[in-house]
Amino acid sequence: MMQFTGKVVYKGIALGPVRVWKKHDQPVRPGRITDAEAEIREVQRAGMQAKRQLLELYDRAVKEVGEADAAIFEAHRVMLEDEDYLELIYSKIRTELVNGAYAVAVTGEHFSEMFAGMEDEYMRARAADVIDVSNRLIRILEGTEEAPGDMEPSIIVADDLSPSETMQMDKEKILGFVTVRGSANSHTAILARMMNIPALVGVSLEPNQIRTGTRAVLDGFEGRVIFDPEESQCVRARERMEEEWKKRRLLEALKGKENRTRDGRIIQLYANAGSVDDIRCALENDAGGIGLFRSEFLYLGRDSFPTEEEQFRAYRQAARMMAGKKVIIRTLDIGADKQADYFRLEKEENPAMGYRAIRICLTQSEIFKTQLRALLRAAAFGNISVMYPMIISQEEVRRIGEIVKEVEAELEDDGIPYRHPEQGIMIETPAAVMISDELAELVDFFSIGTNDLTQYTLAIDRQNGKLDDFYNPRHRAVLKMIEMVVENAHRHGKWVGICGELGADPDLAETFVNMGIDELSVAPSMILKIRKAVREIGDLQINCKMAENSDQ
Ligand code: PEP
Ligand code: MG
Repeated sequence: MMQFTGKVVYKGIALGPVRVWKKHDQPVRPGRITDAEAEIREVQRAGMQAKRQLLELYDRAVKEVGEADAAIFEAHRVMLEDEDYLELIYSKIRTELVNGAYAVAVTGEHFSEMFAGMEDEYMRARAADVIDVSNRLIRILEGTEEAPGDMEPSIIVADDLSPSETMQMDKEKILGFVTVRGSANSHTAILARMMNIPALVGVSLEPNQIRTGTRAVLDGFEGRVIFDPEESQCVRARERMEEEWKKRRLLEALKGKENRTRDGRIIQLYANAGSVDDIRCALENDAGGIGLFRSEFLYLGRDSFPTEEEQFRAYRQAARMMAGKKVIIRTLDIGADKQADYFRLEKEENPAMGYRAIRICLTQSEIFKTQLRALLRAAAFGNISVMYPMIISQEEVRRIGEIVKEVEAELEDDGIPYRHPEQGIMIETPAAVMISDELAELVDFFSIGTNDLTQYTLAIDRQNGKLDDFYNPRHRAVLKMIEMVVENAHRHGKWVGICGELGADPDLAETFVNMGIDELSVAPSMILKIRKAVREIGDLQINCKMAENSDQ
């Protein structure tokens, strides 16, 4: 038995086998082999396994995102049958007597460079695909990946996880997360909360010492992970899981009820989402809408920009699933910890204060316009609102307005149906707070991003796990800022919500209601807990009268 402690990111208990997660970004090293034909047979075996994986991925994607978007997996499968590609790998093994993984890596790079140099845009885009396919083969050859179908539900143990890696994991197969690094306020932590998965960060273990398959108990209440637990510890974990289920079932009784305080004040409770799965979860938890759809997650965990069509379909699907309820889609908030290689962003000294979010969109307007076209088109099919992240000035908001007008004119010219959506901004910089009076005149609503607002107000990097104890989102400075933003929004007749993690703090629900916050957007799993907190606010005597008239 081995036991380690860490910081709790999401409470809960998990019990099951461990899967040690390895990064795949190390270069493949050449190794000498003696039996070329045996090595080629290994590559062929890996090829068969890769094709099986791709078939499974294709079937899953058809169900989740539709045939058109799933086609990429079919294209990858066909690449694995390309004779030129395979012949080059085999001839490298035969003539240079190198290991299969290295031969695949070199061949992949060769084909990728060839595609990248082509005139035709479609062929150029295949450069990333051939690298993707080669990496899949390499992972199988090096034994660093099981076929998705073979992986049993596990507790992931990793040195660190990026949002992009987390996004690629099959949520159904994750029981919990345990990482050595990471902070409680990072996007990986946010993803764990969205996925409703117990998670610990800052656990001082050495992942290489833990074997995949080892049994573990993750206690996300005590902040503890136990490897090779004793039977009594497993029994206790099962009991705790049962207790949690009971509490959950009690909360279920609040489905369909209003978010109304005992003295009659009503607040909107929406859900944060980053994928279609999250929207399903939001619906299951009776969300009144989607208050923050982190669109950048559509851009992560892939090798090229999502096309206008892909984005349009994803946003339209979100709107359709919510069936008339508001879906607030935030435009691309890439940069800092949310990185995708194909953006080719330079390394920066201070990425959290660097070239990110709206700054990228306003300087690379083609990327921004593609997203806006998709958003405005999807808005014609549902109740979509759009909001913009990391705003610091009125000039930015005016410039966004001009670009939206240009996009609308282009759609008009192209005869493509669209709708002008409600538009708001995130208030997540102290600058935006201080000029919220002026900004309120330019927009339809505000959504306060307390994660970044806390980081910039307290001058604490939210990615730095060492500072978690200093990162206090309940700091008076942050609460006073929220109060100021609410006053300024309401003075101009605009509504204001909170979509940062602070909105999900049940102990603050009363504070926010008293401030006059109109909406809270929280992880789907938190909706019923906050509804419970809201319904306990207010005067009991008034409540007796209210109960007679209320819907519940
Ligand atoms: C925030 O900063 O509070 C927010 C909601 O945005 P993100 O966490 O994605 O930066
Ligand atoms: Mg933010």
